[in-house]
Amino acid sequence: MAGSFCFPQAGERYREMIIVLKPEADGAVAKEILEQIERLGCRPLHMPGSERVVLGALGDERVLGTLHLENHPMVERVQPILSPYKLVSREMQPDDTVVKIGGVPIGGGGFTVIAGPCAIESLEQCRATAMAVKAAGAPLLRGGAFKPRTSPYSFQGLGVEGLSYLQQVSEETGLPAVTEVVEVADVEAVEKRAAGFQVGTRNMQNFRLLRALGRSQKPVVLKRGMAAKMDDLLLAAEYILSEGNPNVVLCERGIKTFETATRNTLDLNAIPYIKERSHLPVIVDPSHGTGVRELVTPMALAAAACGADGILVEVHHDPPNALSDGAQSLTPEEFETLIEKLEPVVNAVNKKMTRCRSI
Ligand code: PEP
Ligand code: MN
Repeated sequence: MAGSFCFPQAGERYREMIIVLKPEADGAVAKEILEQIERLGCRPLHMPGSERVVLGALGDERVLGTLHLENHPMVERVQPILSPYKLVSREMQPDDTVVKIGGVPIGGGGFTVIAGPCAIESLEQCRATAMAVKAAGAPLLRGGAFKPRTSPYSFQGLGVEGLSYLQQVSEETGLPAVTEVVEVADVEAVEKRAAGFQVGTRNMQNFRLLRALGRSQKPVVLKRGMAAKMDDLLLAAEYILSEGNPNVVLCERGIKTFETATRNTLDLNAIPYIKERSHLPVIVDPSHGTGVRELVTPMALAAAACGADGILVEVHHDPPNALSDGAQSLTPEEFETLIEKLEPVVNAVNKKMTRCRSI
């Protein structure tokens, strides 16, 4: 899915379609059709499936129609993509996408845990928590350097200094790290120092940021907006893919409801709903989804049971003294217990825990 997408021009009747080739069609046929699509100025897509070659074409429907691909002897059928999100839809790609963050897979048959502090507070804090996360067997580290806080008086994160600590600790432990990027101006700094971007709930519809991340090839963990519908999340992901970056992991992190006993309401409906419609991996953040330490483990288990591809969870070596989100952060011991409890649930849904590479 290389190259960026041409957004429809005025007067264009925009169309996306998939072209399913006959089982006997070979690579040369696929190449010939893709070249024809490209010659017309439309965007060709190659999606090798496990059973059948499926090609995609995006462009003006009047132009695409001139190819009469339905009459091609090696084409089984041509059908329009009906869902509002095209590139992220299962219509476009029936098989699950596996996104690799620093070489660690998310999606496919694995269950991947990303864990670490809400915010990077110091080198020592980041290191102590990362070592605990690694000892418990998690393969990926998280930690925020740029913190989007509701109050301007709350700890805002250490910025680029925090990114350097995260990079250092990531190198020391061998755990690839993801960290939040809050604006276009910081994309380059984060890209240089982390294995993956996180887009937070408050930025899910920052379309300029999404497009900028689409021009990178680094993976993006895209969190659902706290007041966004599931389809809005899928359309936000479409922005990133449409710019040429297919490496998107969706993250359900809870939404605002009338309930005030918990920080958010963790909408686990989103997991099977999205899995049905999209090939992208989906993970769950039970920390922000509940805001309550005691609820994190049960909801993480529920996430695994309903088909999530992993979790993003906050762990702190000393939660009572955390500078942000201490009330929802697990201690290293609680995190270790969570990992132990997860394994049988993950196995029960025919998945396998993705372990830390060096363990
Ligand atoms: C975070 O992961 O620390 C965070 C700020 O998450 P969210 O954007 O989901 O609130
Ligand atoms: Mn947090």
